[in-house]
Amino acid sequence: MDSEKSESRQLNGIGASAGIAIGQVRITDRRRVAVTEVLVANEEIPGELDRFTRAIERAKGELFALREQLTATHGPEHLCVIDAHLMLLDDTMLVGETTQYIERLGINAEGALKRTLGRFKAFFDGVDDEYLRERGSDVETVVERVLRHMVGQKQEPLDNIEGKVIVVAHDLSPADILQIDKNKVMGFITDLGGKTSHSSILARAFEVPAVVGLERVTAEVREGDTLIIDGATGVVIVNPGAEEFREYLQKKQRYEYVERELLKLRDLPAQTLDGHRMRLKGNVEFIEEVASVHKHGGEGIGLYRTEMLFFNRSKLPTEEEQFEAYSALVKKMAPQPVTIRTLDIGGDKCLTDLDLSDEMNPALGVRAIRLSLRQPEAFKAQLRAILRASAFGEVKLFFPMVSGVAEVRAAKAILDEVKEELRGKHAFDEKVQVGIMIEIPSAVVIADLLAAEVDFFSVGTNDLIQYTLAIDRTNEHLSSLFQPLHPAVLRSLKTIVDAAHNAGIEASICGEMAADPEYLPILLGLGYDELSMNAVSIPRVKKILRRCTVQEAREVARKALSFATAAEADAYLKGEIAARFSESFD
Ligand code: PEP
Ligand code: MG
Repeated sequence: MDSEKSESRQLNGIGASAGIAIGQVRITDRRRVAVTEVLVANEEIPGELDRFTRAIERAKGELFALREQLTATHGPEHLCVIDAHLMLLDDTMLVGETTQYIERLGINAEGALKRTLGRFKAFFDGVDDEYLRERGSDVETVVERVLRHMVGQKQEPLDNIEGKVIVVAHDLSPADILQIDKNKVMGFITDLGGKTSHSSILARAFEVPAVVGLERVTAEVREGDTLIIDGATGVVIVNPGAEEFREYLQKKQRYEYVERELLKLRDLPAQTLDGHRMRLKGNVEFIEEVASVHKHGGEGIGLYRTEMLFFNRSKLPTEEEQFEAYSALVKKMAPQPVTIRTLDIGGDKCLTDLDLSDEMNPALGVRAIRLSLRQPEAFKAQLRAILRASAFGEVKLFFPMVSGVAEVRAAKAILDEVKEELRGKHAFDEKVQVGIMIEIPSAVVIADLLAAEVDFFSVGTNDLIQYTLAIDRTNEHLSSLFQPLHPAVLRSLKTIVDAAHNAGIEASICGEMAADPEYLPILLGLGYDELSMNAVSIPRVKKILRRCTVQEAREVARKALSFATAAEADAYLKGEIAARFSESFD
């Protein structure tokens, strides 16, 4: 655009929050504090301990003040990120280990804190699950805040930005995202971060376009450069030419138009042309996402992943803490239902005082319901908290990674014990519905036996595809083999829903497959009663649903099931979509 500026360049990162933003670069200094570890004399150790304690207290004071300031604009449900950071500042491992390093090794407070961070990082870097790995960045953010206080380095806040800018930073903390004023910050891009980092989740919840994981973008752009960012594809264009500028301006207008049009569907029923209803719900990990479920017309929460409460901490959350979190969510969604999944973590995935051992093959290890059954006290605390939350609205609960009937019976026996303990002490819904995730091939094969034991099935297609096809869902080199339309997957989906309906119970899908509008005709045609997905996908899926008839969908499902390969089924489905719904897929 400006001949003074350098040539147009394209950078590719990870699309973290959809939307196109155009604006001037505003580099925000979020670089790491440089720290050197030095030995200190014995008599200096009390001083170092004191410096550490004071920095922790100042960091807490700063977070409390930020919390206070943000209360006016964000409401308590958005502030739990700050609470999580405050909790980390009280974390026994973070504080205890740093204190010990200072005392035992005789090193300076910064060096000691950096060592503790190193231990946290080593742990998180070794975690397979991308989502949980990203939680390590919360610890880093908190440590950076403390370090800045130790070395007296101020950080420029994001709430006094002028003009229409795209914030460029090495990394942004969730607290930074909460401070963003959407009238001034069009979007943000960072060197670090992944799709599931806490900041990316908040960006999606607040619908701020974002591209993360660009690695060196802070070094590659200059203040005053013009940027176009596409938060869906991860593309960043630096100093676009006139042609690119026009193209993206059109894309942006088109995107915003489609979003506005889709939102008009919000209050229209999720039903087919011939009046068949299919419930569309939202998946959430954080209470912040509830607003987005409401905004996009979700009819409840079909999957609440409770894992996040157990993360970033060395002690398990107490029953009371869990009760607070679950009941807040239930109250916020009432009268619509919330389906709460019991803990789905395993040896590779958490930092808690659960008794977990290292495992060679964690995806096949002690995770999810297997872990809960081995840790009955922790399991009971979670079940008590979920049951108590059921006094505030409709709650359903379900167990992840079920492989057989014995597990279901064992889990339900513990649930019965917990109900007995609660009777007369706490209100709860005696008839709370109990379901299971179907995501392991053995559960598909015995779906008829399992259906006799529970009130509903919810299919986790992410894991079902992983385990059925033996394709690690996190391995980017195998992504082309991760095939939702593989005949084995489609046949499994049919077996599951048929078994559920034969037993008179409902079947839903809460894996990513539910969020792809292309698959809607198949899932509808197979007879699924409910789909649960990230909230922004709900209107897109609803749009296709409202253009189908059940008869048509059954035909599509029947035909899709007849192919020998995923590629054939895919080609067929694409043809059908083009013929029937092309204008809905703009
Ligand atoms: C799934 O496996 O499809 C699912 C919804 O659960 P998660 O992604 O949490 O494993
Ligand atoms: Mg799963």
